[in-house]
This record gives sequence, structure tokens and C-alpha cells, in this order.
Amino acid sequence: MSIDLGRLPRFPLANLPTPLQEASRLREALGGSDKCPRILIKRDDLTGLAFGGNKVRKLEYLIGDALAKDATVIITAGAAQSNHARATAAAAVVAGLRSVLVLNTDEAEPAVQGNLLIDHLLGAEVRFVPKGSDSDAEMKKVAEALTANGETPYVIPVGGSNEIGAAGYLTMSLELREQLSAFAAMPSRLYFGNGSRGTQAGIVLGAIALGMPYRSYGVLDSPNSPFKEERAVRIANRAAELVGSDTRVSDADMINVDGYFGEAYGVPTTAGDEAIVLLARTEAILLDPVYSGKAMSGLIDHIRTDQIPADETVVFVHTGGNSALFAHADRLARLARAG
Ligand SMILES: *Cc1c(COP(=O)(O)O)cnc(C)c1O
Repeated sequence: MSIDLGRLPRFPLANLPTPLQEASRLREALGGSDKCPRILIKRDDLTGLAFGGNKVRKLEYLIGDALAKDATVIITAGAAQSNHARATAAAAVVAGLRSVLVLNTDEAEPAVQGNLLIDHLLGAEVRFVPKGSDSDAEMKKVAEALTANGETPYVIPVGGSNEIGAAGYLTMSLELREQLSAFAAMPSRLYFGNGSRGTQAGIVLGAIALGMPYRSYGVLDSPNSPFKEERAVRIANRAAELVGSDTRVSDADMINVDGYFGEAYGVPTTAGDEAIVLLARTEAILLDPVYSGKAMSGLIDHIRTDQIPADETVVFVHTGGNSALFAHADRLARLARAG
């Protein structure tokens, strides 16, 4: 049962605990208490550090490890509008380290907006590679060149999704346990945006190790694959070992909710955009078009199609990402004005 995060080096970056907030106006908008379960939103968009989000919890432990290994420069990878890359660049600043971001894009000149603008403001060194590149291989090349220059690089995988990052996300479950007892709530389900699986590994391991009452629903941001499924279980169980827990998870514990990412990763959906506007207008909470908006569109659809009894409680983990909103301004402004 026990989780001992004290075994791992930690570099403080996040404002914790993040609030747990009752979304009663959203519940009203979705049909009220006859139709819609109680909704509690865990505000991991508010972890702080240059627009926050879920990656900051992982980075406290990843940067802790990097500093323990005397790193001088952090290397990571992602899309041009990667929240993870932006959060990593911010974490590097605070830790006094340089950062190199390997960002994939098919555009000759990706718009310097949203996260990419912040990467530049933070002083990260940005290198573009074509979409579909092997990001691990690209990061290895960068690391080898830096090593030859006398630097000590530390490579963080895409999304910060390894066992250390997943262990870092256990802090969310530890906070939620306290907060749920303050709310006198026993949620049956927890929803979140699911990408490179580090968050899922941490959430599912935390839920089982702490005996939480809910099952965890990871709304996919991109097509599922056996590799990703295997990674989720592997890093969850390695994270368990790192924190001295006897808990082990299996495939059956990982619920991947398909059908809400639309055409592909990063391509907006109408339902996701509508969720962004609805949350803005009911709770003044800002979601994003790539992860949290699509995840919320999955929860909303499950509510509208009566998959969750109205007398139950659900938790939605807002994983952040709203720093990317500005890269979608024209489309979202049209929708917002039309409504
Ligand atoms: C990265 C990210 C996720 C997904 O987290 P993973 O650990 O990669 O699965 C969800 N929401 C937002 C806003 C993110 O930036």
C-alpha cells in the first residue's frame, strides 16, 4: 500500500496541492442532478511554472534526477506546440540548466505562438525535425554532440513518460485522497487526457496503491497501440518499485477511451472545441484543443449518453495545455462569436 516518494530526488517546481473544484454550473448545463453526475475538477492546469500543466509534477522528479547526476543541459522532444517541451524549458531555467528542444513539424516556419513562443522567451535552444522522425534517435545525436563539447546532457523522453515521471505523478493521487475526504466524495470514475502514458501510469498506480474508489479513464489523444499499452504497464510497475510499493498493475487496469481524438493527434475536433467554449462559459476554466478539450468531450459524451449514473461523482483531471490556445485563435474565435 505504501508509497515512499522520499526515496527519489525532487526539485521543487510546482504549486501544490492544486485545487479540487466543484463544477456545479457545468453540471447544470449538462442537465442538472437528474441527468448529470457530480463533477469535481482537479486543477493540474494550475501547477504553475510558465503555464503549468501535468508535466510539472513529472519534472520535479526528472529534474531532481538530472541534478543528482550533475547534468548541465536538458534535452527533450515533442511537437512544435508541445506543453511538455515548454514545461521542460521552464524547469531547466529554474534549475539553472540549459535546454535543447527537438520539435517535430512539417511546416517550414511554424507559427511562433503559444508554447513555441514561450520556448523562445525561456531561452531554450529549439531544433526542428520533420514529423515522423525518431525522436529518441534525434535526441541521442544532440546528446552525443553536447558530450563531445564537455557538457553533461540529460535526456527526458517524450512527455516525460518514464518511471521517474510516472512516480512524480503519484503526488496527484496523494493530494486527491486528502481532498476527496474534505469533499466527502467517493467518485466512481476519474477522467483525464491520455497521451504518452506517463500520466496514466501514475494515476492508475496511485489509485490502486492508495485504494481509491474510482476507475481511471484515459481519453486518448491519438490512436492506441500495443507499444503504448505495454509502456503504460511497464513504467507504472517500475515506478512502483522506485517508491517501494508492492502494488503491481496489469493491462486490465488501463482503460483507454477511444473515439474522441478525431482524425489524428493535434487535429482539432468540433466536440473538443465545443467543450472548450462550454467550460469557459460555465466555470471560467480554459481547456486546450489537443488534450484537455478532447478529454472533456469524452466525459461530456459519456454523460449525455447515460453511461454514468447521475447519483455518482466523477473527477476530471485538468492536465493543462491552455498555453496552446493562442495557436488556435482564429478557429476558436469564430466558434466563440457564433455561439
Ligand atoms: C502531455 C499532456 C497530456 C498527456 O499526458 P501523458 O503523460 O503524455 O499521457 C495531457 N494533457 C496535456 C495538457 C498534456 O500536455
